[in-house]
Amino acid sequence: MLQTPDTFRPLIQAVPHNDVATLLVYRGQLLLRNNDHALPDGKLIDKLQLPPQRLHALGEWKGRYYQMGWLDQPEALADGYAWHGLRSLFGVIDDGLAALAARAVQLAEWARTHQFCGVCATPMQRLDGERCYCCPACDMRAYPRISPAMMVLVRKGDAVLLALHALPGATRYTALAGFLEAGESIEEAVHREVYEEVGLRVQNLRYFGSQSWPFPHSLMIAYTADYLSGEIRIDPGEISDARWFGPDDVWPEAPTTKSIAAELLQAHRPRP
Ligand SMILES: [Zn+2]
Repeated sequence: MLQTPDTFRPLIQAVPHNDVATLLVYRGQLLLRNNDHALPDGKLIDKLQLPPQRLHALGEWKGRYYQMGWLDQPEALADGYAWHGLRSLFGVIDDGLAALAARAVQLAEWARTHQFCGVCATPMQRLDGERCYCCPACDMRAYPRISPAMMVLVRKGDAVLLALHALPGATRYTALAGFLEAGESIEEAVHREVYEEVGLRVQNLRYFGSQSWPFPHSLMIAYTADYLSGEIRIDPGEISDARWFGPDDVWPEAPTTKSIAAELLQAHRPRP
């Protein structure tokens, strides 16, 4: 699962350091050297002459100071480097570095989309000691956006409910999921989404785990629940099929991503 390394120490302010690593981000993509997937070297970063406001502290890990730098153009960069979407790097680069990259990509997206105040259009400024953009004219404040979403695996006897999401290209049955609405608790969202998507009532919600998911800034909060009542009635706008998978059914192919959905399914897979 995509997880911040235990030994990572997050920082909000830049610190002087003799070993600086820069995660360079352009629109959700990370710049890496082609032959070894290394981060861009200091020479390349110096050449870009990024202004200080384009650099954000991430933290210290394994004796290196990590920062994020973001670009709004892909730039004509040195030969031997290429931009990589985050998903394509899971399982390819070190897991710890992938988690740092996920953090960097989310912060870069926040920085890119908060350059001007959403109230009065004044250029925003960064606050010292806080991860915050602040408007000098009207004091509107913008923190990194994090969107909570619930995920739930509904159980009935020795079967679990899996659904095929009505998304272009969706081919894999998985747990139900959906974003919270304003004013809702996570448990309320579980009950509402299950009823809306498949027409069932559930009980005995149990927390499974959570995971930051950087596409673009979700926090997935996963539960299991027991079936209480109702017959499956799908919402065709959200779900194209949903059914119970018991011990004798062919289990869907495991997702290749390092997602909490994969862990949730694997932990509750019915055994014949
Ligand atoms: Zn303002």
